[in-house]
Amino acid sequence: MRIILARQAGFCAGVKRAIDIAEKCCDQEHTFYSLGPLVNNDEVVRCLESRGIIPIKGLEQVNPPHRLIIRSHGASRDLLLEAQSKGIEIIDATCPLVKQVHELVASLRGEGYDIVIFGDINHPEVQGILGWCDNNALVINDVKQVSQIKPGQKIGIVSQTTKDENKFYELVDAIKLQAGVVKVCNTICAATKKRQQAARELAQEAELILVIGDRKSSNTTTLLRECQNTGVKSYQVQNANEIEPDWFEGVSTAGITAGASTPDWIIKEVMDRMTLLEENDNQEINEEIQTNEESFAHMEAEMADFTTPSRGDIINGKVIEVRDDEVMVDVGGKSEGIIPRRELSVQDIESARDLVAVGEEIEVMVLKWDDDGTILLSKKKVDSQKVMDNLEKYFNSNEVVEGTVTGSVKGGLLVDVGVVAFLPASHVEDGYVKNLDDYIGKDYKFKIIEFNRNKRRGSQVVLSRKELVAGEKAILKEAFWQNIEEGQTRKGKVKRIVDYGVFIDLGGYEGLLHVSELDHQRIDHPSSVVSEGEEIDVYILALDREKERVSLSRKQLIKSPWQVVLEKFNEGDIIEGKVVRLAPFGAFVEIEPGVDGLVHISHLANYRVEKPEDIVQPGQVINVKILSIDAEQKRIGLSIREAAADDERGDIDEYLDNQE
Ligand code: SF4
Repeated sequence: MRIILARQAGFCAGVKRAIDIAEKCCDQEHTFYSLGPLVNNDEVVRCLESRGIIPIKGLEQVNPPHRLIIRSHGASRDLLLEAQSKGIEIIDATCPLVKQVHELVASLRGEGYDIVIFGDINHPEVQGILGWCDNNALVINDVKQVSQIKPGQKIGIVSQTTKDENKFYELVDAIKLQAGVVKVCNTICAATKKRQQAARELAQEAELILVIGDRKSSNTTTLLRECQNTGVKSYQVQNANEIEPDWFEGVSTAGITAGASTPDWIIKEVMDRMTLLEENDNQEINEEIQTNEESFAHMEAEMADFTTPSRGDIINGKVIEVRDDEVMVDVGGKSEGIIPRRELSVQDIESARDLVAVGEEIEVMVLKWDDDGTILLSKKKVDSQKVMDNLEKYFNSNEVVEGTVTGSVKGGLLVDVGVVAFLPASHVEDGYVKNLDDYIGKDYKFKIIEFNRNKRRGSQVVLSRKELVAGEKAILKEAFWQNIEEGQTRKGKVKRIVDYGVFIDLGGYEGLLHVSELDHQRIDHPSSVVSEGEEIDVYILALDREKERVSLSRKQLIKSPWQVVLEKFNEGDIIEGKVVRLAPFGAFVEIEPGVDGLVHISHLANYRVEKPEDIVQPGQVINVKILSIDAEQKRIGLSIREAAADDERGDIDEYLDNQE
């Protein structure tokens, strides 16, 4: 006989977690109690009892300092409060999914809904749920009870986690016809659904199915019904002793499934017994059974090694599949873990494939158990935790960290230092910063001025550059004063422009370049000569080391217009100039920016001129001859008349040359 074990069978994640918690309490000197049997399985309960976990019916049976384990079904809020008030230590093994139902009914009550619970009123899980909505809920186990709902009522409906989903929606439809507003919360656990689905798949191959589980277990009962509904002969057994050999007569393939509260060792016992029944079968079949045994033994060994991780635990895993949006991780045991892309890295990544590859060993943090037993994991949180550990070290030792400014927020900048840290605007420099956006995308060094892992609001890591910038400036300043001398030419950066001059950063010193030292010519505003951020050469005019003052000049480094004129022009040259103003005695003509010469009235034309405006107008460009250059007096004599005569003479000479 071939024996097939359903793809999903036995302990669900919630029950396994509760058993693991209980096992940690076993064999200790304190007595531990569980409020009601820890799972709906007498054999498991007996085994735990023999190891010091005593099931009780009420709190009156617990005397402090004994400890009370809350089973996966959960308990009412009042009971937990009462236990606390009595000084009883609570070990809460409530399934996280059942806890979600507690929170759900409490919030539905708060929103003014009348609660309907689809479930069995005597089931401990339902009793617990009732205790989270002030025991003010209608518990319905059959669609016929819907008549108890008043027309127009505002109903919020939840379900016992192990109920049949089809029946739940039958009930929902009936309630919708009756009530006014209906908020449907399907709280049926996928572990139950998946076991039912696996049982249906099993029915396609098996001629007989054994459903292993306690008769008090709601999900085992539902599982049995599912199997029977497929038309395949199905029997429920609580343990191996209940197996009837007659059932297997003529059966070549038998299937096995088990409820969520059935431990693996009972499943194994059942499989062993079935194998014994087939002892006389041929070698081939025996080998198959052996294979089943081996695979079960393998599974058991894996389970033994696997301690169910709890929320927040950091565990090792191996990447078994990578998709764009998620990564599947083998974390041992029966469960698989999923890392959604957003939990892979603190940085935004396009695809999970950019970060991990199949076969890679990684550390992950358990975020939560999903309803089907898969575990939601985070790599980002482990990485962040490592980074936070390092940052804490840096903080304690006052060391410098490096990071990249990634963006600006109200009041400062965000910095990637492995985690996102906050840099307040007042700590960006050692002075006021006009535009924070200038820092985005750049790398800097920082000091951590605040580190608080437990901070829930605001950033856990706060940075500062202020002190570092001030320190760097002090070093530069010392170097500046050591090396600076009068008469040097230094490169400097224009930091700020004001009406009266320009502030120049000379690296360690910021000096004023007065407007009068900017240029030889009169200028309207310093911004017409230099712009902010520009690098220019400055001349060190004078130093006052005591007062730490440096007089700067740009003008000293550029030629004066007079120097240009002296180098460029000679007496007798005929050049172009622009009439800039007129006077009764002549016209002033600009021959170089900042240098004007005078064309005396007697040199305006080769005849007597009454008024200069009769000959030239301001703005007019004319040819003039340089009559004299007096560098000392800074005077230049010009003549239009002679320029014209020379020009005419030149024309005549050219004519004569051509005639020859
Ligand atoms: S069946 Fe689902 S809800 Fe119930 S204990 Fe198991 S995992 Fe939790």
